[in-house]
Amino acid sequence: MNLGNVYRFSYTQSAMQEGNDVLIGSNLARTVSFSFDLTSKTVIDALSMIDGKASLADIIASSGLSDDDVSEFVGLVSLFIDNNVVELFDEKEKAKSAKQIQSVDYERFDRQINLFKHALGSFDQAIDVQNRLDSCKVAIVGLGGCGSYVFYTLSAMGIGSIKSYEFDNVERSNLSRQVLYTHDDIGRPKAEVAEEKGKKISPTTDFIFVNKMILSIEDAVDVFEDVELVICSADNPRPAFFELMNKAAYMTDTPLLYAGSSTTNAVVGPLVIPGSTRCYKCINYVEPTEQFDFVKNIQREYFTTLIDPYNAVSGSLAALEAIKFLTEFDECQIIESTMFFDFSNYEVDKDSNVYSGRCAICSP
Ligand SMILES: [Zn+2]
Repeated sequence: MNLGNVYRFSYTQSAMQEGNDVLIGSNLARTVSFSFDLTSKTVIDALSMIDGKASLADIIASSGLSDDDVSEFVGLVSLFIDNNVVELFDEKEKAKSAKQIQSVDYERFDRQINLFKHALGSFDQAIDVQNRLDSCKVAIVGLGGCGSYVFYTLSAMGIGSIKSYEFDNVERSNLSRQVLYTHDDIGRPKAEVAEEKGKKISPTTDFIFVNKMILSIEDAVDVFEDVELVICSADNPRPAFFELMNKAAYMTDTPLLYAGSSTTNAVVGPLVIPGSTRCYKCINYVEPTEQFDFVKNIQREYFTTLIDPYNAVSGSLAALEAIKFLTEFDECQIIESTMFFDFSNYEVDKDSNVYSGRCAICSP
């Protein structure tokens, strides 16, 4: 620590005080507790002078600290720096100007950069995350209830390139739960409407729209071409479609994330990574059974029940996990695992599939 430096308290923290104990942080897991039971008032007053204007040397000179007080003050400032409670007053500006990539509109992403900084510890790393988002290429299959939210969130957060697959036209029955479409759009291709909306949400994203149904393995392989991650958010997918996407992911060596909602659950995951994790088919494996005809009938006629808040949660969580996976600003929670968020009681459950085998698709 250089005493000539100017520090300020971090704006991404909140603080609580009980007696002489101060809790600083933004959530329980990342909150740090400091006890000031044995700290003199002079030292506490000196800490209060950290304001982004005076250097530590200036504060020491003007606060009348004794030699012992100075070492305690410097020790506390050092502890604050280590715990992200204070930062260099110009750390963010320095980190921005040090980067080669200057095409990113940092003002637009200011709040999320603050969050990345809080998660990672420095603005330097936070800005790397934003630049990484700017270079990401993803594909979304299905721009219905869940997919609309995935598309919206990834665009708004500044993903560099989004390729979307959607073959439907906008219908009146979509308007209760598909955030991209309005009454003016009824009858128009969803891909066309989403293109207009996307450019307004994120002028910096390259959008590609493909208005077709994925029916063959060749179609599925095309989805994975030139992207780093595919998010499958089709509202009413069939097992055969999931298996097609699963196979194409492993043929093209490209990660695939599933998301949607089912009855009263948001279902987010699994994220499968060819060459590393088991595939969707193996993660969801059940012992084959000779099924009763009426069970087959129910499965064939199955139509997902949907309500807007469920889509919002599953789509937003899927986008969040995708961004965690792509940038590593936080740990992705759905790699080879499915998260069920139950809207009836707000319990979160992860799948507990005991089968651990691998099929021909995902065998190393
Ligand atoms: Zn497998």
